[in-house]
Amino acid sequence: MLKAAFPGSFDPPTFGHLNIIERAAAIFDELLVVVAENRQKKYLFSSEERIRLVTGLIQPWKNVSVALCDSLVVDFLNKRDIRLLIRGIRGTVDFSYEFELSMMNKALAGNIETIFMTTDPDYFVLRSSAIKELASFHGDVSAMVPPPVAEALRIKYAG
Ligand code: ADP
Repeated sequence: MLKAAFPGSFDPPTFGHLNIIERAAAIFDELLVVVAENRQKKYLFSSEERIRLVTGLIQPWKNVSVALCDSLVVDFLNKRDIRLLIRGIRGTVDFSYEFELSMMNKALAGNIETIFMTTDPDYFVLRSSAIKELASFHGDVSAMVPPPVAEALRIKYAG
């Protein structure tokens, strides 16, 4: 039984995240999308809103579930007996950041393996931060996020 986790902020989830979820769900028996709540970070969407958005998006996959994590991700995974941590890579900038993060996680929990999945070329420009900026100017984000996320962004930035 191969269980993997895909942790991230998902603030908000994008077609890029969804593509990684779809591909990971086809490889692993179970995939847990871990919505991280980090007190140092400022989010646009609350953890409840991010969980609700991810929950709606993962409905097509029976083997994908979602959980909230407000502790160290590796501790959270160890408690759930998950040894594989998936991260998505859009390019070399992501890689250098993700590589350092994986080294840190390896130092904290040597039993957890980080697996990098490179983005699909269709999604490599998608970045939650840029999408939020575009949405804040009422730009069209419909090619970047699923409809419920576009609607949630519209409501956030309405007025
Ligand atoms: P974090 O704040 O933990 O980086 P994000 O929600 O921004 O959380 O990203 C979660 C993971 O999804 C990261 O590994 C990130 O590189 C990956 N990711 C985000 N957007 C894309 C994309 N368009 N294609 C592939 N991976 C992506």
